[in-house]
Amino acid sequence: MSSSEYIEQVMHDLEDRYPGQSEYLQAVHEVYESIQPVLEAHPEYQEQAILERIATPERLISFRVTWQDDEGQVHVNNGYRVQHSSVNGPYKGGTRFDSSVNPSILKFLAFEQTFKNSLTGLALGGGKGGADFNPIGRSDAEIMRFCQAYMTELAKYISADQDIPAGDIGVGHREIGYLYGQYKRLQGVQLGVLTGKPVIAHGSLGRSEATGYGVMYFTEELIKSHDDSLQDKRVLISGTGAVGLHAIVKAIQLGAKVVAVSNTSGTLADPDGLDLDTLLTVIVDPNSDLVTYLEAHDTASHYKEAIWSCDIEADIAIPCAIQNEINAEQAQEIIERGIRYVIEGANMPSTAEAVQCFRDNDIIFAPAKAANAGGVAVSGLEMSQNAQRLQWTFEEVDQQLQSIMKDIFQHLLDTCEEYDLDHDYAKAANIYAFKRIAELVQIQGVV
Ligand code: GLU
Repeated sequence: MSSSEYIEQVMHDLEDRYPGQSEYLQAVHEVYESIQPVLEAHPEYQEQAILERIATPERLISFRVTWQDDEGQVHVNNGYRVQHSSVNGPYKGGTRFDSSVNPSILKFLAFEQTFKNSLTGLALGGGKGGADFNPIGRSDAEIMRFCQAYMTELAKYISADQDIPAGDIGVGHREIGYLYGQYKRLQGVQLGVLTGKPVIAHGSLGRSEATGYGVMYFTEELIKSHDDSLQDKRVLISGTGAVGLHAIVKAIQLGAKVVAVSNTSGTLADPDGLDLDTLLTVIVDPNSDLVTYLEAHDTASHYKEAIWSCDIEADIAIPCAIQNEINAEQAQEIIERGIRYVIEGANMPSTAEAVQCFRDNDIIFAPAKAANAGGVAVSGLEMSQNAQRLQWTFEEVDQQLQSIMKDIFQHLLDTCEEYDLDHDYAKAANIYAFKRIAELVQIQGVV
């Protein structure tokens, strides 16, 4: 069978086995459509079922989470941990608490995480977990009880050397603190069993900022390599969670103008650039939303629509909200408004059709698995600090983050050159990571 037939057959098998797991199939397809040149150089991968083994999680743990709300009502949620791949080290990846969580979403995230983690150059396998629990509007005590119930099951399957969860959507310092406390109660002290811990609980300085800062360090490298600069570039950023927030801060520090931001309360725009101090006050205050910004700056505008549907001219788009937030129609529209670069801050925020549209229009596109790898990279540094029983300075961590992001971009450039990919960084990221993972699978035998 030719390598393209092999890819097609594997995709067919996955579609038959996992009908309806659209996000998972989308993520696998996006990688496998890029790697034909590697398969051609390694015909033995077919007999060894390398594609099947890389796409299929080593383990999918699924459990019931039973907890009681403040009124005494008992609730049942579904909890999961996808231990996708351990070929490059212990399973590593975040935890998402959101009503949309299901096996397809976690399998896509764990698959992506495996590729992203291998790009960092650190010894990190891939995993992801979470629950279909919506934390919005829940009291602190309810969040604590939910985290304790979730960890009561999960604790059986994780340890500092086996599987190290962190945060993701709906899981921040507070949740990691409760999850850590419950793990300790059940299994004893293991500092490195979770990352993204509060700094006082021996988390890493710079971990909260890492994904957003990393996205901008990566963007700076990429723009430089196109003989361009971030200075005064007009940037659109969706999402004001940990990733979006710190991407906004770093973009402005690096000289760009953030002309619009968005979250569930709508889109806020100012063609002259939004003011960072006011923006920070508005974003971090749980009792205010983006409209509040207008009280201090009446030249700005607020729209109810998502940022990608608003008529705002800009040079760079950095989606940092959620998977599939940019569809083909919106991709076309933002290109017409002047966007030249799209850098993914969230995991898989562009649909397959949107990515195709960027490609067809020569937009410089950077995939999440490379651009947002800074978060998990600093999680890796947190694991090292915990193992050493030391805490590095913010500057030390930030320095290492910058150098990891620079190295990732360099790997993509080198891969583009080796495979004659022009500037297809998505393909380059897939090929570079796939080659490493496939070799690791092969050298560890049939297991
Ligand atoms: N959830 C983050 C990601 O998507 C971070 C994972 C981690 O730090 O383990 O990469």
